[in-house]
Amino acid sequence: MDDTTRDEYEEYSYEDYFHENGIPEFGCCLEFKLNLQLMNSIIQISDAASWEITELNVRQESFAHAGYHGTVAGLLRKVDRDVEMMRYGYPTHLQMKIDEFLSQIRQLISGEMTNLQNEIYHITVRDPSGVSRLLLSDETKIFETKFSYFERDFFEKDSLGLVVDNSKLFSPDEQLTSPLDVANLVLKSSRVVCLSGAGISVESGIPPFRNMNPTTDPSTSSVAIWSDFDPNLMTVQGFNSNPDIVREWWRMKHTYLPRITAAEPNPAHLFFEYLQSLNKLNSIITQNIDSLHSRSGVLSERIIELHGHMRGLICSNNSSSKYNPIPYADGQCSFVCSEEDCVKENYFQNNPTPQCPLCQSPLRTETVMFGQPVPSKDLERAIDAISNCDLLFIIGSSLIVHPVNTLPMIAQKAGIPIVMINRDETTYDTYATALIDQPAGEFLQAVTNCLQEMPPDQLM
Ligand code: NAD
Ligand code: ZN
Repeated sequence: MDDTTRDEYEEYSYEDYFHENGIPEFGCCLEFKLNLQLMNSIIQISDAASWEITELNVRQESFAHAGYHGTVAGLLRKVDRDVEMMRYGYPTHLQMKIDEFLSQIRQLISGEMTNLQNEIYHITVRDPSGVSRLLLSDETKIFETKFSYFERDFFEKDSLGLVVDNSKLFSPDEQLTSPLDVANLVLKSSRVVCLSGAGISVESGIPPFRNMNPTTDPSTSSVAIWSDFDPNLMTVQGFNSNPDIVREWWRMKHTYLPRITAAEPNPAHLFFEYLQSLNKLNSIITQNIDSLHSRSGVLSERIIELHGHMRGLICSNNSSSKYNPIPYADGQCSFVCSEEDCVKENYFQNNPTPQCPLCQSPLRTETVMFGQPVPSKDLERAIDAISNCDLLFIIGSSLIVHPVNTLPMIAQKAGIPIVMINRDETTYDTYATALIDQPAGEFLQAVTNCLQEMPPDQLM
């Protein structure tokens, strides 16, 4: 076997590394451009790392591989084999790019390609375990490579087995249910976080998306939003490619908007404004797009709107908004319409499918559609808030929608008390210190009353 076909590499396990050398304090990120001179450098990618070739959308997630220790050329040969094997899994429009990429890396590996031509592919390795490295020799040190450290988030620590599990399971007779019990939990805490979903706004007259148990609230069962619309069609990809879906999406917004505009915060929203006034509120993480938390008087910097909001409109081809990462076309339009201007222009009343006055793409709200990721900065803030809270309220969420449904695990594993207020069961119910099956506004009004009856010096 000659050098170009021999693929000597070893698997590279972060666990072995931890075992032999201890646990690095941080995760690490490695970025470099593929070039001929790097071919014989040694690269180590642990099995905990995700890595990607940016330009090609070739990507492997953490733990989807066994790690790699060998030369860069050997890695490319492995990529060549893996991509070839998985080729049928890539969409048709990428097939030509794949051919081009494979021919390029074959030329690189065989040394046929010159340095200038071939610096077009970037490899990015993100490794929460912190053990991946590109080992450069003196001659290759001149090439542009970036190496940085990052703090691991909860889920990264959890996947590496670094989270201590302090979960407590409660039997139904151990779980607290009264307003006074919950008021006493509040009394002991100073960094409350609320994770809310559609159910918190039901008493304000806004129907939830799902009504799993219509018998609990017959007034909303007939109007649950998705009973009228097919969520599987309402993806951003559908919106960007099919005028029928744009029409259907706007029909949904037109049904929804009058309800949101008419709604007022209810005692459940106001409860958190009260906690803010007591200096006990850390943040509110909400899936709701109805702005009722901010209209209750909670400071906007304390509210994390994971699924966006309905204040104003943007052009769907404006990719500068954090809520529109998958634009309609080239993403170059800059049109934004404020809430007041939308009212002035009557966008919401008279336009079945409003269009951008600059580029004629459909307008849209700054909301997270299906098929679109939750903005990563907001998700990081949410993870951070729950990691640092001392009491978590979960209100009116079926905890079905990803990634929100993973967030309660942070409190669960840290042993932080959870107050769950819902009309249906969730997968986290048995971890809740208090489990309440009552309308949230009604129950939290009773908790507010209990707190207001306590001596003020106890509250602060
Ligand atoms: P969901 O519709 O899946 O679940 C609603 C939950 O609220 C259920 O568990 C139900 O038992 C509970 N509930 C109903 N009435 C309640 C009440 N009075 N008090 C307490 N709980 C009550 O909601 P979700 O988990 O938020 O997911 C739905 C998605 O739809 C979210 O992504 C959200 O963005 C969106 N949505 C938002 C709004 C809004 O902004 N108000 C409304 C509907 C849907
Ligand atoms: Zn536009």
